[in-house]
Amino acid sequence: MKIGLIGLGIMGKPMAKNLLKAGYDLTVSDLNKAAVDEVVACGAKTASNKEIGETCDLVLTMLPNSPHVKSVMLGENGVANYMKAPQVFIDMSSINPVASKEIAAELAKKGVEMLDAPVSGGEPKAIDGTLSFMVGGKKAVFDQYKPVLEAMGASVVLCGDVGAGNTTKLANQIIVACNIQALAEAMTLAKKAGVDPQLVFEAIKGGLAGSTVMNAKAPMMIEGNDKPGFKIDLHIKDLNNALDCAHSVGSPVPMTAQVQEIFQWLHNHDCGQDDHSSIIKYYKMLTGIETTGL
Ligand code: NAD
Repeated sequence: MKIGLIGLGIMGKPMAKNLLKAGYDLTVSDLNKAAVDEVVACGAKTASNKEIGETCDLVLTMLPNSPHVKSVMLGENGVANYMKAPQVFIDMSSINPVASKEIAAELAKKGVEMLDAPVSGGEPKAIDGTLSFMVGGKKAVFDQYKPVLEAMGASVVLCGDVGAGNTTKLANQIIVACNIQALAEAMTLAKKAGVDPQLVFEAIKGGLAGSTVMNAKAPMMIEGNDKPGFKIDLHIKDLNNALDCAHSVGSPVPMTAQVQEIFQWLHNHDCGQDDHSSIIKYYKMLTGIETTGL
């Protein structure tokens, strides 16, 4: 099977390498030439959007947000212009589920099937090939392409029709954001009350408060390590999509709105490219505790 992958950022690059390790014939493209060169050095080919659309059985994207996916697929010279049945498109980016449905509807006019298949797990799991995929689309298409996603992930779950993958991802991002805020708030309280945050982490990580978020992000907060990981600006994008989706379906999201305001404040204080665990900086700025590590 010939696969095209567009988008070789923090996530797309290691995912491309795992597709190569699994033996797939891979063609890649990105605006960043250095990222393309690195994946080509591992055995991939590179080509224009037109060639990818004309020649690949399966087209994958791993791009920042809805406008990027829409423009790469449906824009002038977009990949979709060159695709026809039985080619298939799988978008692995985290985008607004409304946009997923719009793109799928355009592709359906050409008989091209689409799955939305965003992931959770972040860069370490993208490198290990142990991402969790949340997928929306037709079961027959899912069954056919599941092995491709399994080359990059440890869990691949069909959640419903097109858009269900990204709706599930929004749920995931709400839970992660609220967890990160609670963790930063609790670590700041410990520090201000004179208890070592490292000892708090060690004491509680095995109990009910423990979580994957805590295990991954508490050490970063304690060390003052803000290297992304998952950037605050990308989390702002996801929470904007969550608020947008919640407003349109009439679901209350007060906690999401609050974390979003904190992330936005951090963006306005030049922290948008930091890891989202840098939410601790908001509490540091409010309390005056030291700014390099807890
Ligand atoms: P990133 O910003 O590191 O990478 C995006 C890549 O897309 C860049 O290499 C950029 O050059 C490329 N790009 C942008 N526009 C393009 C275009 N028009 N044509 C070709 N290439 C283009 O982002 P990332 O962290 O890899 O995230 C990608 C997606 O995965 C996002 O939707 C994000 O929310 C989601 N995600 C990220 C993580 C994480 O921890 N980083 C975890 C889960 C999901």
